[in-house]
Amino acid sequence: SGRSRLISGLIRSVPDFPESGVDFKDITPLLANPNGFSAAVEELVATAPRDIDVVVGIEARGFVFAAPVALSMGIGFVPVRKPGKLPREVYSQSFDLEYGSETLTVHRDAIPRGARVMIVDDILATGGTIAATAGLLRHLDVTLAQVSVLMELPALGGRATLEKAGIDSFNAVV
Ligand code: IMP
Repeated sequence: SGRSRLISGLIRSVPDFPESGVDFKDITPLLANPNGFSAAVEELVATAPRDIDVVVGIEARGFVFAAPVALSMGIGFVPVRKPGKLPREVYSQSFDLEYGSETLTVHRDAIPRGARVMIVDDILATGGTIAATAGLLRHLDVTLAQVSVLMELPALGGRATLEKAGIDSFNAVV
């Protein structure tokens, strides 16, 4: 669609960042363009099933999209953060990244048991980040109803990782 072309035209490829061989997708031109940014948020909202209770966003670029999606849906936003940032008791999950490794955390009392949750992030690459976030949500005993990202990098096999993690409702805007 025209909106997909608007959005993908505002995401630029930067070769060899942050290291040689990685083709980095830079979303900052999209964020700087109010029409593009709002189209991205609206397209993410359009992927949401009915009866979602909470939007979970992943530090840091995921926050930029997940927070306005939550506001637009009239529901709460819960942050999944890097270690040492959340002040109360957390669950933690470590995993390997396309480049390096990472740990993510969430407050143990962040979401009521049984809530229906949607994860929003900027980019699906290998899928490790979202699989780890799904693992955190299992600790919280909530239902992961939807995973939506702005952009999928199909060559990196993220879909297969999500399928292995038992995620069956996935959508990428571009
Ligand atoms: P994954 O865990 O390999 O799927 O990587 C996804 C995470 O890494 C997301 O939270 C992204 O923010 C980040 N990421 C991976 N590749 C890129 C990229 O090319 N551009 C921007 N962020 C990326």
